[in-house]
Formats: sequence, structure tokens, C-alpha cells
Amino acid sequence: MYLKSLELLGFKSFAKKSVFDFTSKISGIVGPNGSGKSNVAESLRFVLGEQSIKSLRGKRGEDLIFNGSKTIPRSNRASVKILFDNTKRFLNIDFDEVAIERVVYRDGVNQYFINSSQVRLRDIAELLSSANIGSSGHHIISQGEADRILNANIKERKEMIEDALGLKVFQYKKQESQKKLQKTEDNISQVELLRKENAPHIRFLKKQVDKVEKSIIMRDELKKLSLEYLKRESEYISFTKKKTEKAQKAPQDELRTLEEKLQRAKEILSKSSKSDKKSDELITIEKKLTDIRTQKDTLIRELGQIEGEISGENRRIEKEKENQKIIENRTVNYNELNKVAEQVYSQISVAEEKNNISEIKNTLRSIGSIIKNFIAITFSKDKDTEIYYNEFENLKNKKTKIDKNLANILEDESLYNERYSILKTKIEAEKDNNREAEREIFSIMSHQSQLRATLDKFESIENDLIHKEQDFEMELQEATVLVGRAALDYDKYNLEESLEEIVNEGRQTQEDRRRKIEKIKIRLEEFGGGSGEETIKEYKEALMRDEFLENEIIDLEKSARALKDLIKNLEERLSIQFNDGIEKINKEFQNFFTLMFGGGEAGLSVIKEKKRKKSDINILSDMENNSEKTEEDEDEEEGIDIFISLPHKRTKGLVMLSGGERALTSIALLFAMSQVNPPPFLALDETDAALDEANSKRYGDMIENLSKYSQLILITHNRETMSRAGILYGVTIGSDGISKLLSIKFEEAVQVAK
Ligand code: ATP
Repeated sequence: MYLKSLELLGFKSFAKKSVFDFTSKISGIVGPNGSGKSNVAESLRFVLGEQSIKSLRGKRGEDLIFNGSKTIPRSNRASVKILFDNTKRFLNIDFDEVAIERVVYRDGVNQYFINSSQVRLRDIAELLSSANIGSSGHHIISQGEADRILNANIKERKEMIEDALGLKVFQYKKQESQKKLQKTEDNISQVELLRKENAPHIRFLKKQVDKVEKSIIMRDELKKLSLEYLKRESEYISFTKKKTEKAQKAPQDELRTLEEKLQRAKEILSKSSKSDKKSDELITIEKKLTDIRTQKDTLIRELGQIEGEISGENRRIEKEKENQKIIENRTVNYNELNKVAEQVYSQISVAEEKNNISEIKNTLRSIGSIIKNFIAITFSKDKDTEIYYNEFENLKNKKTKIDKNLANILEDESLYNERYSILKTKIEAEKDNNREAEREIFSIMSHQSQLRATLDKFESIENDLIHKEQDFEMELQEATVLVGRAALDYDKYNLEESLEEIVNEGRQTQEDRRRKIEKIKIRLEEFGGGSGEETIKEYKEALMRDEFLENEIIDLEKSARALKDLIKNLEERLSIQFNDGIEKINKEFQNFFTLMFGGGEAGLSVIKEKKRKKSDINILSDMENNSEKTEEDEDEEEGIDIFISLPHKRTKGLVMLSGGERALTSIALLFAMSQVNPPPFLALDETDAALDEANSKRYGDMIENLSKYSQLILITHNRETMSRAGILYGVTIGSDGISKLLSIKFEEAVQVAK
């Protein structure tokens, strides 16, 4: 016996705690209509995890909770607890007693407990499925549902039978495996997608890595070439530098000497600027001489003139002296004298008449003037001889002066002439010197320009070397960047040639090397900078990840295969056990059917029906239109069909059966199922309601037989059935609307049931 007790609290009409102790193999529950018996059967379904409230005659979870009555307030929760004896471990849990409890609250929340530990519904379902008391409820037949198995469709029927055969656990496993398989396949797809997504990146990285590897080889070559190039270049530069410095020394020295010479020559020439002063002086002297000569000429001319004048004047004086002698010896004419005597007498006569002295004096003065004028006119000279003398003296003085000036001028002339000739001689001498210096300057300068041209060449070589040095520095820097610090050790690079060979090999060869280096650099740049370590690392990581994913796929595929195998295995087991079960059920079904109907035939057959995905309406319209069905619309569905053939009747098929015949057929099938794979308990709610007396007896016999394998809880009004029960519970309901429980005797039970 597995079922120990059932405890209801707040469940439907069982407001108060009511406990059924199932101490007998057959427990009967009796009571008047509406007392709450069916609530007991429902409480069993409820506690075992029934999810359809409708099948528990409710709309909401709340409907399962005691709703209160006039005298008793409503409950807040309904709980049902079922207690199993698990000493035989029929439940796959390591407890001797297993209490399964379910609680529902008014807000519809459900709680499940196994041995007071809260669990999930799934845990309960799994636990029970192993014990053949699955959720299809084939072992709890509610009131009026005796023929449920007959009414069910082929698929539901199959499920019920699978459940009854204890195959649900395989179904669960199968479903679980299918889910796992689905998940695994999803994972495979995801991982494959990931690999697919990663593949271009890996390909890209591979290319990059190839490039990096190539670039490593090129870098090595670049390093070797760069070191050789740098070494050669540095040797060339330092050699050429020294050579140029050395070669410049002689022309530089010579240029310096020439410069000194040039300075000297220039000094000579600069002195010639002083000779210019001499020339100026010479010109001044020349001018002076010209002046002097002009003055001299003028004086000579003046002297001639004066001397002429003097001799003329001399002649005049001599002539005057002769004229004087003539005038002094002149004879006066009487008339002239008489004229004068008359003028004098007239005046004397005038004077005689005057008394005034002053007037007489004036007359006397007039007489004197008359006489003076007479003498003057009579003995007049042409010019005064004295004037001639004066003039003569004057001219003599002038001549003396001119003579003196002339003498001075002549003296000046001779002085300047002398200075002129000295200066002239000096200038001539200097001119000779300058010409020599000029010649020298010209020669120095031409030599200098030759030397400068030579030095210019050296300078351009040096400039070229400066550029080469700058280029070298840049090349060294670049090389350091590209091949690392090793480039700085170019000097240690071993060249097998001698220095002479190195510097004389010709620049073109070195230029070719440089071009080759440049080409490699360009190619390296095309390959992208950097050492590529990151790329290689990334590539390795990507490969590792891809490998990981590949292994993952292998693992997943392995587990998918294992799951498929498992599913196949389960399906095979299911199929074998199912077919085997069907065979066994058929046997028992036939037995029970024959027992019930005294003959006839009954059996189950596995059939395949085409399942339609479209709605019934569509199916109907399809049928009406007689339209062709596409393959997509159809899917085969396996199920169980029942065939029966009543004895002495020609009726075949379930639809033709009477109510009683349906009840008997379903009981026969139910019992057959229970016989083949007995559930721990069977609850039958008025399954016997439609039976007549004779059949009630047969039913009672079958029950007793069945109770050898399963514990039975029978809700019944049937006296015969009651008589087979080892323990009877009476359920009553009072005016308070609460179902009450009482353990009663058979006789009482008959009473109570009424
Ligand atoms: P019959 O013999 O006629 O089949 P029964 O004994 O099987 O009757 P049930 O159908 O189990 O009776 O019980 C029905 C009773 O339970 C009704 O009186 C109903 O009012 C009561 N009932 C159902 N749900 C609740 C509830 N949530 N709260 C209180 N009472 C309830």
C-alpha cells in the first residue's frame, strides 16, 4: 500500500482540516449528493499537479478555496497534502515517507512542496511520472468521466495509455532530450554561424600574418642591406671629407699668400691716389705758371708802353723847353699895348672919381687882372712844362713799379718751373710703379679666381657631403625605426673589402643599394607598419578560438548524436513497451470486456491519422470545396483506436453503445490498463453509477481483483461497491456548508449514502 493519507484544508467545501487515512486496500467514500465527495477526488487531482481548473470544476484558482458560508468566513488558501509510503522507493526519492503538498492562494499563486520543501510543479510531475501516477489522471476518474477514455481523441487516448503504461517517464525523457537536442542544434548553428562570421576575419588575419612573415624576411634583408649601406656610406663620407679637407689646404694657403700679396699691391695702388694729388698739384702749378706768364706778358707789354710814353714825354719836354725860349723872346705890338693902356687909363679915371677906398681897391684889382691877362695872353705857353715833368716822373715811377713786378714774376716763374719739373719727374716714376702693381694685382686676381674655382669645387663637394651626412642621419633614423636599434651598430658591420675598394667602387653601386632599400621600405609600408606581433597574436587567438569553436561543434555534434541515439533508443523502448503494453492491455481488455458483456470482442489498435493544421472550419470548407490538400497541411499523427463488438448484437463501434454499455466498456478498458501496469492507487468517482445489479456485482469482483495491485478509493452510492471496501468514509455537509468526514461501518454507510 502506497497511499497513506489525504489531508484537505480550505479546499472547496472542506473548510476545516479533514484527513483520510487510507488504511485499507479499498477505501469507500460515501455520502449524500452535494456533500463534497467529488471534491475529494478533485483534491487528489489537484495535489498531484492538475493544471486545468476547469477539470476541477472551477474557473479560477480562487474557486478551489473554501468560499465561506453564512456562519463560516471564507478561507484564504486551499491546501491538499497527500502522504505516500515510500519504503519500497516506488517514488524515485530517498525518503520512506513522501508528502506532496499543494497550496493555492486567492491571488491564484500555487505552491508545491515535497516533504515540506518548496519545489517546482515540474519536480512533482517528474517524481510522480516514475510511479505511474502521471498528470493525465487516468487513475483518477472523476464523476461522469468514466467514459472519458472513450470520448478522447486518438492522440489523447494514446497519451492516457502511455501514462497508464508508465511510459510517461520515457516521454518526459524524450521531450527533454528533444529539447536538449534542439538546444544543442541551436548551439551548433550559433557556433557554426560564429565560425562563419569569424572565417573572413581569420582569412584576413591569415593574409596579414603572411604579410607579416614576408615583412619579417624583408626586414631581415632590409637590416642587412641597411647595415651594409650605412657602413659604406659612413666610410665614403668620412673618407671624402678628409680627402677634401686635405686637398683644400694647399689652395687655401696659396690663396692666403696671394691675398697678402694683393694687399701689398693694393697698398701701392692706394698710394697712387696720393699721386693723383700730385697731378692736381702739377695742374695747379701749370695753372700758376700760365697765370705768371700772362702777368709777365702783360707787364712786358705795359713796360714797353711805359717806356714809349717816357721817351715821348721826354721828347715833349725838350720841345717845350725850346718853345719857352721862343715865347720869352717875343715882341709886343703897339696896338695891343695901347689897348691895354686904354683899359688901364679908363679904370684909373674911374678910380679917380671914387672916394671910397674899398671901391678904389676893387678898381685896382681889375687893373691888376687886366695886366695879368695881357701878359698871359701875350706870353702864353701850350702846356705847362711842369705838367710834362710831372707826367714824366709819373711814368718813370710806373715803370719802376712794373720793373719790380716783372722781376718778381720772373722769379715766381723760375720757381714754379722748377717745382713743375720736380713734380713731373716724381709722377712719372710713380706711374711706372702703379703699372707694375696693377699688373701684379691682375695676375694675383686671376690666380685667385683659379684657386677660388678650385676651392668652390671643394666647397660644392663639402656641401654635397653635408647633404649626404644629413641624408645619412635620416637614413639611419629610418633604419632604426624599421630594423630597430641594431641599425645603430652599422659601424660593426663587416665589409670584406678594403677602404680603397669601398670608396672607389663607384657611387652608382651604392645608389643601387639605396634604391633597393627604398623598394623594400615601400613594400614594407604597403604591408603596414609595426612589428606585426599584435597581428600574429590576434591571428593565433582567432585560430585558437576557431579551434575551440570547432571542438565545441565536434562536442556539440557528439552530444547531438548521443541525444539522437538516446531519443531513438527511447522511441524504440517507447515503441516496444507501448506495443507490448497495448498487447497486454488488449488481452486484459478482452478479458474484462468478456467478463462484463459475457462475450464479444474488444481491443485497441494503433492507428495513424492525418492531422490537419488548418482550423476545423477550413477543413470543412476544404471538404466542401473538395479542394486538393497540399502536403504541408497534413502531418501524420499516431493514436489509439478502440474497436468493440458486443455479443449477440451487430452493433460495432463506440457511438452505437448505450450509456451503460459505454460505462462498462470504459471500466473494462480502465481496469485492463490498471491491470497491466497497476498505479499505486486508483480513484473512481461513481464509475459504477450506471451499472445494474448484475454488472455491479461483476464490477465489485473486478475491483477486488484490481485491489491486489492498486489501492482503490471509490466514491460511490452503490451498495455492492461499498460492500467491497475495507474502510468507509462518510462525507456529510451541514447547514454551515462545510463537508465533514466520519469513519463509518458498512451498515452506516448504506444509510449515509442515502
Ligand atoms: P453527488 O453525490 O451529488 O455527486 P458530491 O458529494 O460529489 O455530490 P460535490 O460535488 O463533491 O458533492 O460537492 C459539491 C459541494 O461542494 C456543493 O455543495 C458546493 O457548494 C460545494 N462547494 C464546491 N466548491 C466550493 C467552495 N469553493 N467553497 C464552498 N463550497 C464549495
